[in-house]
Amino acid sequence: MAAQRIWIKNPLAVFTPEGIDGQGGLVIENQQIVEVLAAGQSPSAPCDETKDAAQHVVLPGLINTHHHFYQTLTRAWAPVVNQPLFPWLKRLYPVWARLRPEALALASQVAMAELLLSGCTTASDHHYLFPDGMEEAIDIQVEVVKQLGMRALLTRGSMSLGEEQGGLPPQQTVQSGEAILEDSLRLIRRYHQRGAGAQIQIALAPCSPFSVTEEIMTESARLAAQEDVRLHTHLAETLNEEQFCLDRFGLRTVDYLEKVGWLGPRTWLAHGIHFNADEIHRLGAAGTGICHCPVSNMRLASGICPTLDLEAAGAPVGLGVDGSASNDASNLMYETRQALYLQRLRYGAERITPQKVLGWATRGSAQLLGRSDIGELRPGMQADLAMFRLDELRFSGSHDPIAALILCGAERADYVMIAGKWRVVAGAIPDMDLDSLIARHRAAASALIG
Ligand code: ZN
Repeated sequence: MAAQRIWIKNPLAVFTPEGIDGQGGLVIENQQIVEVLAAGQSPSAPCDETKDAAQHVVLPGLINTHHHFYQTLTRAWAPVVNQPLFPWLKRLYPVWARLRPEALALASQVAMAELLLSGCTTASDHHYLFPDGMEEAIDIQVEVVKQLGMRALLTRGSMSLGEEQGGLPPQQTVQSGEAILEDSLRLIRRYHQRGAGAQIQIALAPCSPFSVTEEIMTESARLAAQEDVRLHTHLAETLNEEQFCLDRFGLRTVDYLEKVGWLGPRTWLAHGIHFNADEIHRLGAAGTGICHCPVSNMRLASGICPTLDLEAAGAPVGLGVDGSASNDASNLMYETRQALYLQRLRYGAERITPQKVLGWATRGSAQLLGRSDIGELRPGMQADLAMFRLDELRFSGSHDPIAALILCGAERADYVMIAGKWRVVAGAIPDMDLDSLIARHRAAASALIG
């Protein structure tokens, strides 16, 4: 039987790479984009399905590069609503230490469903909580990814520096270096897919300088190089963290990163706010990626990532919603809009355009995850895309469709395709009972707070 061909026909607007006219639409075959048609062009061969996109703006599927799915259980929790990072963390750690497998499964479903409905097709999660009984946390997340049909880069996070050793997290949330590395290897061998079209990948992700030992940083870098997987951590999020590194290691954050063997193109960092000019230059020269998390950085009042300076130095920049205890939405369109506004405060209105921030949310994010098969609408790329309507009240009277998506605040995709399959249809996830999921997730969230 011939492959199924789908024509996404004559979109209202389409976000294609510069110089490519996509007004005639896209042809999908075998999970890939095989043709991008200019205005007035038709597919080179007959299609089995035609999706009229005259009312839709078509984007590459958005890519989220930093999250903590489990934190959807502690959104808008009163004791930390008005706290900066360190006190926020110290108050939340004991709550998070009570996480159980069923609650993580529900939290992952909620976070991923929310991302998917916002037009996100690939998500990375940073899970670093493995208290007793949670040894299979990543395995649980793999099942949820399969159920939703999304792509995911699940990072095997870790914490090994407890309060007793001068770290920030309580002792019951940290693991031995041996246990961390053994499980990391198990997960890579079991789940990590390679090459174009991969659905599930694994990366290694010690949590932060103040929650892991120097040894686990070094060993994770060694293991990642040996197994050829990516490295991820939080870095330069707050000035408290910078002071912690000076006190404990006698080094600034980027010096520490370099010392433990992480300053290279395999690494992407969440936040990346507090860098000096020399550090920006070194990160760029190394090709180390930065995940900008504007809402989290505003909520915790951490600072503003120097995105354009990092890019000019050579560092790829992408976007992340960050965990739901510091955002508290898992909506990547909403995040993209916030990136535009926050970055305009730093770089001005003329340099931070809707196209710029959409580029971060798509091809920039793809670069952070080490992928060249997603993030752009052109022939040969995976068929991952999101389609938005502009007939809601919020868009009424708008003119430029791409600008309207960002400036009027699009937040829910109408159709989403991943690897050639429709995963959101008419604004809903087929076969998912959202009311039931919300009821169960809310119950789990109440139980966790105790
Ligand atoms: Zn984070």
